[in-house]
Amino acid sequence: MIQTDILIIGAGPTGLFTVFEAGLLKLKCHILDALPQPGGQLAELYPKKPIFDIPGFPEVLAGDLVDNLMEQIKQFQPGFTLGERAETIDKQEDGTFIVTSDKGTEIHANSVAIAGGLGSFEPRKPLIENLNFYEDKGIEYFIRDPEKFRDKKVVIAGGGDSALDWSIFLSNIASEVTLVHRRNEFRGALDSVEKVQELKNLGKIRLVTPAEVVGLQGDEHLSGIVLDQNGAQRTIETDYLIPLFGLTPKLGPIANWGLEIEKNAIKVDNSLDYQTNIPGIYAIGDVNIYPGKLKLILCGFHEATLMCQSVYQRMNPGKKYVLKYTTVSGIDGFDGTRKEAEKAVVQSIV
Ligand code: FAD
Repeated sequence: MIQTDILIIGAGPTGLFTVFEAGLLKLKCHILDALPQPGGQLAELYPKKPIFDIPGFPEVLAGDLVDNLMEQIKQFQPGFTLGERAETIDKQEDGTFIVTSDKGTEIHANSVAIAGGLGSFEPRKPLIENLNFYEDKGIEYFIRDPEKFRDKKVVIAGGGDSALDWSIFLSNIASEVTLVHRRNEFRGALDSVEKVQELKNLGKIRLVTPAEVVGLQGDEHLSGIVLDQNGAQRTIETDYLIPLFGLTPKLGPIANWGLEIEKNAIKVDNSLDYQTNIPGIYAIGDVNIYPGKLKLILCGFHEATLMCQSVYQRMNPGKKYVLKYTTVSGIDGFDGTRKEAEKAVVQSIV
């Protein structure tokens, strides 16, 4: 079982920055995210868009902000469990928590910070009979390790950037790549569309449009799909079908954890520390609600900072907290440098 001080659910900007603030207080963090990569909405929805309201950055690409946050927290060596969704929570007699993921990973933490944003991003699934049966037996909604598809036959369905980009990428790995889209036009970037056409002409991608996958075949594992093209049906042999129809965020299982929910968000006490109605469980960033809430990255950073102070007090009851400026203390804190400590502002947190 993974042991940590703070389990952070959500690797969006709020969750990532929590690691930094916790690190300054010498608290260890583990991050759990349903997506295969960190960055939350920034990585999943708009990595190439510039953001203009991050203090100190007149302009920064969302993807670069994620990279910078990852660089900033590296020194605190957070644990990561990616591609797994937080499913259940069990409060222990000593007030700590065990959170279990949908893949059975157990994480034991003193406190839980839910930084789940709009919720966990769930794949939009096509309406095909027996789809559930073939999940993890040939149907994949995320590509976590492209090597899994080496020398395999792969069908990708979808018309956006993900479908185009992965078709291009896997054309060098898989033995056969078929891209199926229900329209002749693609929604993705023009250069990706051109690249797919080029690979089609080279015989490296089979392009089937307008067409839809309407059936699945195979005994224990997927072995073929049925395609409908203008009313005519035919079967294509394949080892994998990867439907890439986008993601929708859902609060999901967290909604059943006994937390107070309002307007699909978790109610918190914003007068102090963003704690929920269950002591030891906090909600920060886009996932929470309180009077005057703004769903902005910088608000998530602020909430994370105050929350970490509260966890520190929870783990060190009665201990006086010394507010440390990083300019004075660096990131290692005051240990052994009494002179520096005397320069710091001493604050008592109730
Ligand atoms: P998110 O970024 O949503 O991350 C939450 C993470 O939690 C996700 O990765 C999700 O998979 C994970 N998760 C949720 N539930 C679970 C679960 N049960 N188990 C495991 N993982 C889970 N804000 C600005 O300040 N400035 C801007 O210019 C700006 N531009 C934007 C442009 C667009 C197009 C969009 C969509 C948003 C924009 N925002 C902007 C808003 C900003 O992206 C959000 O405020 C920010 O992403 C919130 O960060 P977060 O860490 O709270 O949540």
